[in-house]
Amino acid sequence: MFIEGKNLVKKYGKGEVTVFALDHAEFGVEKGEIVVILGPSGSGKSTLLRCINKLETLTKGNILLDGKNIDDSLEFHKKIGMVFQSFNLFENLTVLDNITLAPIKTKTLSEIDAVKRAKELLKMINLESKINEYPRSLSGGEKQRVAIVRSLIMSPEIMLFDEPTSALDPEMIGEVLSLMKTLSSNMTMVIVTHELDFAKEIANRVIFMDGGMIVEEGTVDDIFNHPKSKRLKDFLSKIA
Ligand code: ADP
Ligand code: MG
Repeated sequence: MFIEGKNLVKKYGKGEVTVFALDHAEFGVEKGEIVVILGPSGSGKSTLLRCINKLETLTKGNILLDGKNIDDSLEFHKKIGMVFQSFNLFENLTVLDNITLAPIKTKTLSEIDAVKRAKELLKMINLESKINEYPRSLSGGEKQRVAIVRSLIMSPEIMLFDEPTSALDPEMIGEVLSLMKTLSSNMTMVIVTHELDFAKEIANRVIFMDGGMIVEEGTVDDIFNHPKSKRLKDFLSKIA
């Protein structure tokens, strides 16, 4: 298993007002696999991704990447890229500086190589002309594509996407999904999305979460056509 989460517990709050955002969740992702996570709001999907990326600390359990316990080290930061619903670009930096900041700061690339690579990546997403623009002058779809290549420049081994198209106007969703589709052929990805047609097209495996637990997992056919649990059946009937 490439990524492995064992007995994951994430508790928020204290005393009587505790929430188990993760409640003994177990999961695994193979190298090269595209895993889509589905589940109702509040089921722990974002928490799971944030724990993989070390933006949150687990209350209990551990996550292994390539057999090693992930920690805050640069080694793991470089291996895991994350893309958020709200893009999280640095508004005070140009597109170029947004993309080159991390590789330069961490000395992963020299400044010259970082700029060269950033230009290649911008060319790939057809945004070379925006290189010196600030995020405010980009459309939502453009921002998200820049956010994706900002992750890519670190050559991550796995990319996590947390509802990458949920903040986009409908006409921009396609350009982001199509970039993700292109990248999926040589990348390991864990994607939280409500774009069901896209999920069906791209997923090697689907995980359904509810109440901080992995309730069911399987192929696209298993999950969409042969749901077993009542919770998944209810979820599918609501989103259909
Ligand atoms: P999802 O992404 O599936 O909508 P989340 O992982 O965001 O779910 O949240 C899971 C649960 O944990 C929810 O009940 C949410 O309210 C709670 N939660 C998430 N983040 C925090 C936080 N920082 N403090 C307190 N509760 C939180
Ligand atoms: Mg979420």
